[in-house]
Amino acid sequence: MSVAQAVMKDWLTKNAGQTYGNYIAGQWKDADSGSLMARYDASDRSQVLGHFQQSGASDIAAAVAAAETAFGTWSKRPAPERAQVLLRFAELLDKEADGLAYRCSAEQGKVLAEAYGEVGRAAAEVRFAAGEALRMNGEVHPSEKPNMVNTVMHQPIGVIGAITPWNFPIVAPVRKIAPALAYGCTVVLKPASLTPWCAVYLMELLEEAGVPPGVVNLVTGSGSEAGNALVTHPQVRGISFTGSSELGKRINAQAAGQLKKTQLELGGKNAAIVLDAESIDGAAKQIVGAAFSCTGQRCTAISRVIVLKRHADAMEQALVSEMTRIQAGPAWDEKVGIGPLIDQGQLESVQHYVQLGLEEGAQLVCGGEVLTGANYDGGAYMAPALFRSVQPHMKLAMEEIFGPVLCMIEVEDEQAAVEAANATVYGLAASLFTSQHDACWRIADKLECGMVHVNHGTASQAHMPFGGVKQSGYGAYSIGHSNMAFFTEPKAVYIQYTS
Ligand code: NAP
Ligand code: MG
Repeated sequence: MSVAQAVMKDWLTKNAGQTYGNYIAGQWKDADSGSLMARYDASDRSQVLGHFQQSGASDIAAAVAAAETAFGTWSKRPAPERAQVLLRFAELLDKEADGLAYRCSAEQGKVLAEAYGEVGRAAAEVRFAAGEALRMNGEVHPSEKPNMVNTVMHQPIGVIGAITPWNFPIVAPVRKIAPALAYGCTVVLKPASLTPWCAVYLMELLEEAGVPPGVVNLVTGSGSEAGNALVTHPQVRGISFTGSSELGKRINAQAAGQLKKTQLELGGKNAAIVLDAESIDGAAKQIVGAAFSCTGQRCTAISRVIVLKRHADAMEQALVSEMTRIQAGPAWDEKVGIGPLIDQGQLESVQHYVQLGLEEGAQLVCGGEVLTGANYDGGAYMAPALFRSVQPHMKLAMEEIFGPVLCMIEVEDEQAAVEAANATVYGLAASLFTSQHDACWRIADKLECGMVHVNHGTASQAHMPFGGVKQSGYGAYSIGHSNMAFFTEPKAVYIQYTS
C-alpha cells in the first residue's frame, strides 16, 4: 500500500459511514420519507462513505420556504458584507482542502491531484464572485422630461433552485451558490444522487463562514422526486441546472410554464482541430490531458481530434505515446493518472459506445477494454480508448459518450475540419492547434461553440464567462460577470425632482 493509500484508509476510518441530514434553515433534518441512500467509494465499492436523505416534495417545500424567508434579509445586506461572507468561505475552502479533496476523490473517483485542483478552482471562483457583489452596477439614461433622472438598477431575483451533476461535486454547486449569494439571492441545492458527500461538507463550511440560516439549503434525493419538486415549486424564481442536454430541455419546458428563468449548462462533444505538423506533439499532450482527466467525464472533455489526412499517422503516434503513459487505478494511488468511472452503470454506457464504434467501422487503435483483477475489481475501470477512421456522421462522433474515449477524424483541408467540428448538435468548447496566426482568428470565428481555446486544451479560467451554444447551453453564461443577467433582473426607475 502506498503512503497516500494508507493516509486515505486512515482518514476514511475516521470520517466515513455517518448519516447526514438535509440542511434546511440552518438545521440538519431527516427527510419526511424516513428513507436513506448509501454512497460508496468509487474506487472501492466495499467502502461505505455515508448515508444520505432520500427526500421528496415536502422536504423541498420546507427548504424553499426557508430560502424565501431568508431572501428578505439577505438581499438587503449591504454588498460588501455579502462579499465578506464569501471571502471567508473561500478561505475555508483553502483551509479544508484535504477534507474536501478526500471526499471528492472518494465519491467521484477522480485522482487526488485533480480533486485538489477542483478545490482550488472553487476557491478562485468564490473570490471572483465575492467581487461581483460590488459590480451590480446600473445605468443612468437621458430623460424625455426636464428635471428627471432615468435609471436602471439590478435586483436579485429571489430563490434559486440549483441542480448539479456528479462529475464536479465541489465546483458545480459552488459555481451556483457563490454568485447567487453575491447578487443577493438565496439557494436550495439538489446535488446529484451519486455525489452528496461534498455537498454536505460545503454546507458546514458555508455555515462556518457566516452564511445565515436559510440563505443556502441542501436537499438530497433523486432527480425525479426532489429535483422535479424543486423545478416546479412556484416560489423558485430561477433554475440553474448543470447536466445532460435531454434533461435540460425538459426542465426548461417545465420552468417556462411558470415563467421561471433558467441557466442551463449541458452536454458537449468537443473537438480539437490540429492544423499543422509542428503542432502535433504539443497538441497531443494537451488533448490527452483534456480528454482523460476526470476519466473523460467532463462536459468540456475533448472527445474528437480533427486532423488533416497527411498528418494522421503522426497524430496517432503522438496520441498513443501520451496515452500509454497514463496508468489506470484507484483514485488515491499517487502513481495513477486515471481513476475509475463513477459507477458500473456509467462503465456500461461507455462500453456500449466502444462496441458501437466497432460496429460502425471505426478502428480501435488502443484501450477500450474493461480492466479487472486485483485493484480493479473494487470499481468500474477501463483503459482509455483511441479510435481512428471515425467518420463525422457516426454516432461515435456525434453523441456525448462521457467517458475515456477519443475519436480521430481525418479531413482533407481546413474547411472540412471546421465543417466536421460543427457537425454535431452540441456547441460547448473547442480547441485549435496551429502556428498560423491568421488561422486562429479565421477558425475561432467559424466554430459554433461557446468557448474556443487556441494552442491549449479546453481549460477555462475562474473569471471568464463559461457556457455553450446549440444544445450545450441556454441562458446566461456562468462564472464570469455574465452571471448577473441570470441572478438579477432590471428595474427602470424614473425620478422627477423639483428644480
Ligand atoms: P443528469 O443525469 O442530467 O443529472 C443532472 C442533475 O439533474 C442530477 O442532480 C439529477 O439527479 C437531476 N435530475 C434528474 N432528473 C431530474 C428531474 N426530472 N428534474 C430535476 N432534476 C433532475 O446529468 P449527470 O449524469 O449528473 O451528469 C452528466 C451530464 O452533465 C453530461 O451530459 C455532462 O455533459 C453534463 N455536464 C455539463 C456541464 C456544463 O457546464 N456544460 C458540466 C458538467 C456536466 P440524480 O443524480 O438524482 O439523477
Ligand atoms: Mg445522468
